[in-house]
Amino acid sequence: MTSLDEIVALCKRRGFIYPGSDIYGGITGFWDYGPMGVELKRNLKNEWWRTMVQSRRDVVGLDAAIIMNPDVWTASGHTKAFADPLVECKICNQRFRSDKPQELRAHEETHANKGEKVSWTEPKQFNLLTEVLLGVTEPKLTAYLRGEITQGVFVNFANVVASSRVKLPFGIAQIGKAFRNEITPGNFTFRSREFEQMELEFFVKPSDAEADKWFDYWMEERKKWYVSLGIKAENLKFRKHEDNERAHYARKAFDIEYNSPFGWSEFEGIHHRGDWDLSRHKLTYKDPQTNEEFTPWVIETSGGVDRATLFFLLEAYRKEEKRIVLGLHPKLAPMKVAVFPLVANKPELVDKAKTIYEELTKYFMVAWDERGNIGKRYLAQDEIGTPWCVTVDYATLEDDSVTVRDRDTTKQERVKVTELSGYFQKLLGIL
Ligand code: ATP
Repeated sequence: MTSLDEIVALCKRRGFIYPGSDIYGGITGFWDYGPMGVELKRNLKNEWWRTMVQSRRDVVGLDAAIIMNPDVWTASGHTKAFADPLVECKICNQRFRSDKPQELRAHEETHANKGEKVSWTEPKQFNLLTEVLLGVTEPKLTAYLRGEITQGVFVNFANVVASSRVKLPFGIAQIGKAFRNEITPGNFTFRSREFEQMELEFFVKPSDAEADKWFDYWMEERKKWYVSLGIKAENLKFRKHEDNERAHYARKAFDIEYNSPFGWSEFEGIHHRGDWDLSRHKLTYKDPQTNEEFTPWVIETSGGVDRATLFFLLEAYRKEEKRIVLGLHPKLAPMKVAVFPLVANKPELVDKAKTIYEELTKYFMVAWDERGNIGKRYLAQDEIGTPWCVTVDYATLEDDSVTVRDRDTTKQERVKVTELSGYFQKLLGIL
């Protein structure tokens, strides 16, 4: 199994993810996405949006503000209940979540190796909302960076119903940043203090049969989506939340977990939120046919963009005898194609390659490399997961065709320059 260290090293070396504020020594729980990482993450979000919004008549999108009226968080119950149980090691004062027994055991072991026996303080509830102070005069308004993107959807429920043609059952989808003052950020980007979520709130009639039907449907849809983009089904599993671990809003919850180097770990939750949020915000829905007024129930799919990005990287990474390959699905790959002139000092080859590069960049991200030998250029593209490399050589000047090399098989074939963009668009499923 790929180790987390291998991915952390690749991410830094190839420009996927850097520690936040790196030149100032970093800051715990914050990460910056580099030139490759930003493309990977953007492709992931675009694919999600295409599947969850663009291709569905029953879902619309939204982009709500990060900072909301603090009353939202009082009504939603977050100022009271959005908390994790914190315990402190009495030997070294390090803090942990008492609901993560694996992490507690690991810490106990580090002390046991020094002949010490850990005892813990009593658990205290620690609220995860990050406060911000707004305004210029004292007292300033205490607001919060949103701890989940969900509430932006609920407070706009009436606006969306009034301004679009949605009818139950329907969903509102959103992608955006969330912030949590996590007690133990760690495992690279897995637990960060700033992260992105991609969520669907799907509103249904308040009936057990309806809610169960949609809950099962969305569980399957979400799993299928991850598998369609390259995660092996055997590396995914559903885990049902026990009664005592469910969030304050949830009637039923399942996590989608990935078989990661640090154990099976949640990266998406499917939640039955019932009428918790809409009734807290005093919002109802009027059936346009029957005029009946009621509070819909909500089935939520809440995925982490950063956790999914990390797991796609782990899944794609493979070490072969002579190369490291990131076997990302072409739809997710940061660069779809790389274009190389065979040598950099032949203007005819460079000019021809530039024309091809410019034509292809009309459709997708294309890498350009003219340094060193071709073999090294292939290896560099393999490490960032570029599915195809195009080489412009002397024969190109004669027969107007190029060599296309496939990342996974390393096989090469000749393709006519005039057919090149259609050739790749077909492979990418966009033609
Ligand atoms: P955990 O138990 O790991 O703290 P959670 O159950 O609190 O997660 P949810 O509130 O269900 O998480 O959030 C939905 C999704 O948002 C998670 O499945 C995850 O992908 C993402 N997420 C939540 N917290 C973080 C975080 N601190 N860093 C990165 N992603 C996160």
